[in-house]
Amino acid sequence: ADYIIGLTGGIGSGKTTVANIFANMGIVLVDADIVAREVVSKGSEGLKRITTHLGTIILLEDGNLNRSKLRQIIFDDDKERLWLNALLHPMIRTSMLQQCKDAQSNYVIMVAPLLFENGLDRLVNRTLLVDISPELQKQRTVTRDAVTAQHVENIIGSQASRAEKLSKADDVIDNQGEISALKCKVEALHNLYLKLSSKPE
Ligand code: ATP
Repeated sequence: ADYIIGLTGGIGSGKTTVANIFANMGIVLVDADIVAREVVSKGSEGLKRITTHLGTIILLEDGNLNRSKLRQIIFDDDKERLWLNALLHPMIRTSMLQQCKDAQSNYVIMVAPLLFENGLDRLVNRTLLVDISPELQKQRTVTRDAVTAQHVENIIGSQASRAEKLSKADDVIDNQGEISALKCKVEALHNLYLKLSSKPE
């Protein structure tokens, strides 16, 4: 596909729920979280580069990346964090764009929790925000995961603000209502995206 929709939203906003409705209508999804794991999977160029730089201390016994060890290293050392980002961000971008290009649907949805924060919005044709209040974000995430409201609040604080995302997004889905209402809204956007992707910009 040549036409890419960037789908984003804060923690617990309903990105996955919305993405699955698009997928059920035959639209291919490219998930930034999955690609971020692929580029450091066992045998990958990314993992080789990390091992060369940090040593085999960064590997688990089975040869996979020791994620908690890596998290600890970059949490304690800004220089290493910048090095890692400079290595992985271009690899993630290239791989996501390739997967979008290869996708066999009229358009493709790039799902990225940090679409605006990481500048991925510049890679897509149009952006779609799933929007709910911070109160609902907390409520739904605490119900879904075994985490505290404080933990969710910290993550909300580390992400771009609701106002900033609302001002940047081309399209917004209000997901404060029922899931049934959500389906109608996604179907309407699907029709819009089919039109937009069928003609040159
Ligand atoms: P994260 O970024 O944390 O992975 P997400 O944006 O992908 O979250 P979802 O996992 O889709 O969000 O939704 C969060 C939770 O809220 C899930 O348990 C989901 O089933 C539920 N949910 C989503 N939309 C609604 C809705 N309209 N009404 C009630 N519950 C909802």
